Amino acid sequence: MFNKRIKIKELLAAEPQQQQVTVMGWVRTFRNNQFVALNDGSTNANLQVVLELGKFDEELLKRITTSASLKVTGTVIPSLGKGQKLEVKAETVEILGDSDAEAYPLQPKKHSLEFLREIAHLRFRTNTFGAVFRVRHSIAFAIHKFFNDKGFVYLHTPIITASDAEGAGEMFRVSTLPFDKTPRDENGAVNFKEDFFGRATNLTVSGQLEGELGATAFGEIYTFGPTFRAENSNTARHLAEFWMVEPEMAFCDLEDNMNLAEEFIKYIIRHAMEHNREDLEFLAQRLADEEKQLPQDKRSEMGLLEKLEFVLNNHFERITYTEAIEILLQSPAYKKKKFQYEVKWGIDMQSEHERYLVEKHFKKPVIVTNYPAAIKAFYMRQDDGCEPGRETVAAMDILAPGIGEIVGGSQREERQDRLEQRMKEMHVPAEELWWYLDTRRFGTVPHAGFGLGFERMVQFVTGMGNIRDVIAFPRTPKNCEF
Ligand code: ATP
Ligand code: MN
Repeated sequence: MFNKRIKIKELLAAEPQQQQVTVMGWVRTFRNNQFVALNDGSTNANLQVVLELGKFDEELLKRITTSASLKVTGTVIPSLGKGQKLEVKAETVEILGDSDAEAYPLQPKKHSLEFLREIAHLRFRTNTFGAVFRVRHSIAFAIHKFFNDKGFVYLHTPIITASDAEGAGEMFRVSTLPFDKTPRDENGAVNFKEDFFGRATNLTVSGQLEGELGATAFGEIYTFGPTFRAENSNTARHLAEFWMVEPEMAFCDLEDNMNLAEEFIKYIIRHAMEHNREDLEFLAQRLADEEKQLPQDKRSEMGLLEKLEFVLNNHFERITYTEAIEILLQSPAYKKKKFQYEVKWGIDMQSEHERYLVEKHFKKPVIVTNYPAAIKAFYMRQDDGCEPGRETVAAMDILAPGIGEIVGGSQREERQDRLEQRMKEMHVPAEELWWYLDTRRFGTVPHAGFGLGFERMVQFVTGMGNIRDVIAFPRTPKNCEF
């Protein structure tokens, strides 16, 4: 058996008792022809492997270069070196794979995140990305655990969909039609009847509509899968391919929905704090170092761990959209004309407005509810008793410091007549969504749900400023390498 190894994370937690172990990993550094810092990805901490002088071949020693992969068998002994309690005294060293250190792009020095994005195939081997992707994994695991423990059914909604009715964003077309000889109908339009599915299809922008079908049978479901938006927004928080978590609950109103979302976000943070302490401490230090480069007024008031702790220990502020607009209109920023975009009831708040509310005014996560119907999707529940011209819906967005919108959700319109009327007003083709409308015909119930942008959550927990640095291989406009 080859894989009789102990992972370095586990070994470093053990006591040095002269035990025999085998470790495998990649060389980070090799000093004085004696000390190998070996990393196997289980932790950022390297294992010190000591090669007794004179015991090993010159030829072998020459091949121990940065990023070469090794299999080492030896004895675990207490370490005399600083910052480590144990080390491995090597008995045998086998080179599993050589590495040309000259050609290896990762030198033992600080590289910029921009440069590392260009070598995303190797960046997992850095401390920063090691930490980020272990935390990302841990958050994904926590999400499944949270919903599983509550009895939600994990529903896999389709990636390819035919409905272009949702209007959540620009869609990527899925087609096998030839580009040069596209079949046309009598009006000259592309004839999708000849396409693979016999109709026009796209990559999903959200699993919500299908999620509602599940919720109205299982009671509570969640989806967790890839989502695609062909939006041409080159920002630090938009990807063309991202992962979304979408719980959908029957017998649930807007308030229940907000309570669940807040509990969920806090659960994720607590889970990461408990299980990824070491990586979060590393990321906190990284962020602090990065912020030292910034002018004083651009630095965060809290360190990463402090911020996470603060979010755990405080209620999210809950305000209506109307109150949010009022706060903006009363703000010094508005009075001093600091906002680039107009502020008045009815606007779709811009990122500068959201940031003001969260970072300047409340200084904590904020849930904004009851948005104008005109700027929200057709399926959101219409609020009763609105002033004419000020119709709102039971929507809620959660805004987080440094990230902006992290969750978007709503109570859904369960009343068939109201829903159909709204669809007509918004030109949503009811015949295409016959299956969706069936849920309202056959035992409709009050229900609600939300979508959490997984990468934005990972950004929040890791403190990474750019969403491209929390997904392994980011897809953004004009970029699809790897
Ligand atoms: P935004 O206004 O930030 O573009 P949105 O209103 O389009 O967001 P929703 O349609 O409500 O977002 O999607 C639910 C969640 O998915 C958002 O709250 C956000 O966390 C995440 N999200 C949306 N678009 C993207 C994207 N392009 N890349 C990464 N995450 C996204
Ligand atoms: Mn968007």
